[in-house]
Amino acid sequence: MKMTSHPLFKVFKTFFLLDLLSGMYLTLRYMFKKKVTLMYPYEKGSLSVRFRGEHALRRYPNGEERCIACKLCEAVCPAQAITIEAEEREDGSRRTTRYDIDMTKCIYCGLCEEACPVDAIVEGPNFEFSTETREELYYDKDKLLSNGDRWEVEIAERLEREALGR
Ligand code: SF4
Ligand code: SF4
Repeated sequence: MKMTSHPLFKVFKTFFLLDLLSGMYLTLRYMFKKKVTLMYPYEKGSLSVRFRGEHALRRYPNGEERCIACKLCEAVCPAQAITIEAEEREDGSRRTTRYDIDMTKCIYCGLCEEACPVDAIVEGPNFEFSTETREELYYDKDKLLSNGDRWEVEIAERLEREALGR
């Protein structure tokens, strides 16, 4: 019989509160170690350059939309979450009149971003876009462009870092 399973040892352990003391010792040891938890949402962890978050449509520095309405993203989307309608402008350029993403269908595969020849549709760093209703997750062009305006600095930096790593 092992000593630890001896009935007398169990009485000894109970009498001298050994389990409690070893638990308190463990707590004391971790009090002085580096913390691994974060005070979310006040503190946030670092994101991988390949993190795929909320979608955004980007513009060029002069404010012009990047998207040329080629519909490659719509064709490649495995979830059929993207709907695009397009028209030719007076200056002969082709632009979307409708660009919707049903975020409830999206599986965040990133294929739309991969397919885009002009880096217009991207998955940005934002992961805090939960909503109370499904309707709020039906994104239209205005919403996607405003996401692009909001996150352009972070997105451009991420694309640059990713390009360096390729
Ligand atoms: S991330 Fe994938 S599923 Fe989502 S819109 Fe893009 S291609 Fe479609
Ligand atoms: S977002 Fe890119 S891939 Fe999609 S239609 Fe516009 S230019 Fe083409």
